[in-house]
Amino acid sequence: MKVPRRSFLGALAGLALATPLAAQGLGGGGDRSQALRVLLGRGAVDPIPGGFLFGGRRYRGSYSILADGRVINEVDFDDYLASVVPSEMSASWPAAALEAQAICSRGFILARSDPNRPYDLVPSELAQVYRGVESEQPASTAAVRRTSGMVLRYAHGFAQIEYSSCCGGYSESSADAWGGAPIPYLVAHPCPYCIGSPRFRWRTDLLAADLDAVAERIAPQVGALQEVRFTDLDRSGRARSVALHGAVGVARIPASRFRIDVGARRIPSLLVRRETALLTPGTQAFAGLHIEGRGLGHGVGLCQWGARGYALAGGSAQEILSFYFVGTSIGRI
Ligand SMILES: [Zn+2]
Repeated sequence: MKVPRRSFLGALAGLALATPLAAQGLGGGGDRSQALRVLLGRGAVDPIPGGFLFGGRRYRGSYSILADGRVINEVDFDDYLASVVPSEMSASWPAAALEAQAICSRGFILARSDPNRPYDLVPSELAQVYRGVESEQPASTAAVRRTSGMVLRYAHGFAQIEYSSCCGGYSESSADAWGGAPIPYLVAHPCPYCIGSPRFRWRTDLLAADLDAVAERIAPQVGALQEVRFTDLDRSGRARSVALHGAVGVARIPASRFRIDVGARRIPSLLVRRETALLTPGTQAFAGLHIEGRGLGHGVGLCQWGARGYALAGGSAQEILSFYFVGTSIGRI
């Protein structure tokens, strides 16, 4: 059994961010020594030229096997990105949008990698799909290569990277979305570029039975639901709370909790513009909730449909990233 060697992330983890990496000989894009150790799981491995087969799929790079039998893929950072970027953004989108995504994904992965484990990454922990070579697309691979080694920087460190599908016309601040101290470049601001998203405007109907089940779990004291209101709008217009009006009382719960309990796919975002109680004809009993809203996802950081729209309008990757991460600059790992 081969023990995975320490990745370049392990080396990065020991550095003070204020020290220019280039001065320490670690800077520079396209460095083929920048290997990631990606946990694939258990299964049979068959070496092939340039890589290996695992689970019926072809992977680039080399592999090692932990004592417990789990397989780790040691893969060039850009080869990994070439596989996952087309899962994050359609490879048919404009080159500048793909470049912006590649730079964001690189920073996102760096920040969430753990050099203290025998592997840096568990793709599922990043909500990323890593299927090796079969996911690669020429356009996104080209975007990864053109941006090799590039990451977003702020002051003396890496910028915190967040992205979601469509902000619905107004991006969200990290502090409003998740709490914590405000981050100067993750702030709420209008986004005029994502109107082409199929989820820029959406509407959905939730059945009273489903909502009652949620209320019973979260706030059983309110009794049978009669009305649901999205309240406490933040600067972007997203609801921070949901008021559950029941036959016995009212409970106010975090909107994010409500969205997860109902199902994030059924409420695409918290940028709710209108909610209307559906009433049963005749009895006027609460039958459900009609919701109209905008956007898909949390809306913090890069708006992916916005990146597409900005690129179609002629924007470069740098302009796109400067718009969604105000005050950051493109630097090197
Ligand atoms: Zn947007």
